[in-house]
Order: sequence, then structure tokens, then C-alpha cells
Amino acid sequence: MFNLILFGPPGSGKGTQATSIEEKYGLIHISTGDLFRNELKNETDLAKKIRNYLDTGQLVPDAITIQMLKNKILSYDEPNGFLLDGFPRNITQAEALMGLFNELQTDVHLLLALDVPEEEIVKRILNRGKTSGRSDDNDESIIRDRFRVYEEVTDPVFSFFGKMNKAEKVNGIGSIEEIFGRIESVIEQYQKKHA
Ligand code: AMP
Repeated sequence: MFNLILFGPPGSGKGTQATSIEEKYGLIHISTGDLFRNELKNETDLAKKIRNYLDTGQLVPDAITIQMLKNKILSYDEPNGFLLDGFPRNITQAEALMGLFNELQTDVHLLLALDVPEEEIVKRILNRGKTSGRSDDNDESIIRDRFRVYEEVTDPVFSFFGKMNKAEKVNGIGSIEEIFGRIESVIEQYQKKHA
């Protein structure tokens, strides 16, 4: 199995790049943000508990998030590998993921962080908000709050995996193809080193 975490602030292009990565490397793309938005759309019981967090750009509590991610991962038979997007978002989630992968006798192999500065993020998300229909994409103060949450509680996850030599930064500025090219070369370097 090859398990990859696609990391970076909201609006850094994780969703866009995930589509190309899952196709090229045959991974299962799991976005916790998409899973939560799906709960809202279907007005499930869980939707009532999470709506306010999504609307205000705050993290959904770990107990709910980790359980949902576990259920999703365990629902696949003999997966080739996972591409996680939007998870883990804090150290508790990172530790829970390591525990789960340990039980499954696999590992996090690589974390790729898309590096994009705050002003570019705000510009991109406001632009995405014109068509995404996401309430959290239309309000600049919520977008900046999401960036603060990223800096304060999510960014330390980079060092968590960095200490295990598993974290790499990728310049997230450029065309979709240019950025994908950078991602491919980091994955290829990793594969060569571990062949
Ligand atoms: P995203 O699509 O990744 O930007 O996520 C949208 C929203 O879903 C976030 O602002 C959080 O409210 C929630 N969310 C997504 N992933 C997580 C996570 N790993 N932990 C907690 N909340 C999350």
C-alpha cells in the first residue's frame, strides 16, 4: 500500500491536485471536508452536530471526525492506498491515523504540503466562492479564521511527520500542470529511495 497525505491550507489546491494524483497512482481519495458536506446535503443525523463548525470554519470535534475517517478507510477491501485530503488537521488526528494504519499493518508514507501564502489563499477562496456554493467560501473573515486555524493547530502536523522524514513542501503557486509536475517529482524521488 502507498498512503499519501495531501496537506496545506484551505484553498491551496488540494482538491484539484487530488484528482490527478488519484488517477495516476491508483489511490483512493478521501476528503473529510467532502464527507462532511455530503452529510449536510443529505441532512443526516450527523449533519445537525457539524453544521455550525463548517459554517464558521472551525474544526469538527476529533471524536466525530476520527470515527468518520476510520469507518471510511475500513470500508475498502484490499485498497491500493489512500490519498487523504483535509485529514489529519491536528496532532490528535495524526496520532489516531498512525494507530489505525498500524492496526492495518501499513503506514503514512509521505505528506505533501502545498505551500501558498495567506493573501493568495484569500483571493483564491473568494473566487471559488462565486461558484462553489460553500457558505464558508464567501466571507473574508471566515476565510481568514480558517487560515488561522490552519496555522495554529494544523501546521504542527507537518513537523510531526517531518521528524519521521516523511514531510515535503511543494510550491503551490503556478498552473495546475506545473504544480502536479512538482508533486510527481517528489513522489518519484520517494519511490526511487524506497524501491
Ligand atoms: P475542507 O473542505 O477540507 O476545507 O473542510 C471544510 C470544513 O470541514 C472545515 O472548515 C471543517 O469545519 C471541517 N473539516 C474537514 N476536515 C476536518 C478535519 N480533519 N477535522 C475537523 N474538521 C474538519
